[in-house]
Amino acid sequence: MSQTKTRMPTVFVGHGSPMNALSKNRYTDAWRQIATTMPRPNAVLCISAHWYTQGTAVTVMEKPRTIHDFGGFPQALFEVQYPAPGDPQLAARVRELLAPVEVQMDRGWGLDHGTWSVLAHFFPQANVPVVQLSLDGTESAQFHYDLATRLAPLRHEGVLILGSGSVVHNLGILNWSKNAPPFDWAIRFNEKVRDSLLKRDHRLLIDYENIGPEAPLSVPTPEHYLPLLYAARLQEEGEPLSFAIDGIENGSIGMLAVVFGDARGHSL
Ligand code: ZN
Repeated sequence: MSQTKTRMPTVFVGHGSPMNALSKNRYTDAWRQIATTMPRPNAVLCISAHWYTQGTAVTVMEKPRTIHDFGGFPQALFEVQYPAPGDPQLAARVRELLAPVEVQMDRGWGLDHGTWSVLAHFFPQANVPVVQLSLDGTESAQFHYDLATRLAPLRHEGVLILGSGSVVHNLGILNWSKNAPPFDWAIRFNEKVRDSLLKRDHRLLIDYENIGPEAPLSVPTPEHYLPLLYAARLQEEGEPLSFAIDGIENGSIGMLAVVFGDARGHSL
């Protein structure tokens, strides 16, 4: 009899404000729900918008530090620690899988808020090892989509691959007032991305700059959008996807979360 293996889902989360780490709201409730419906992973590989580098790097330390990579938030947020262990073996595996793309084994980064503000809800006890993979800011959307292809075996090795960013992310014109309505262009862009995901039209997702006139407003810089391409690329043929939560905060910050694959895992 063949051994039963589980194919982990892959997830993209719009992380929004770092304050979500300390909040309980409909987004954080949805994140908790995603985690409770999936098998417990052996480790998490997180592709966070906030580690945007020259070249590709992976965190290799056994005890990654909690990075407070923001300003202007309450002291309580700066005191948050997310002491999840690292996973040097997984880091080495990622390097092996991504070859011949060169991967720097990094000991200087840690866990940034794109990772811990979400994982604080997925795994509040910080007891699942976490590795971060950086986004090479010198490369194209197509490069990132193709690179993700090489990570596919990890889904069968108990690794949760998590993209953390935002489909719509424009800090320059966000509206700080509470319950600010979304900008029309933000709604339209988000809808087009959702449509493309449902139709599995990944060509359009990669060519997001041509989605329409709302694209440069929604994605003025690519780092928050690109993690979506990793998660979407890892959806296998015939696998379902679901929108775990959606919304646009402060007019221009997308909160769409997508689960690719069966959230309960898939016995093969
Ligand atoms: Zn962010």
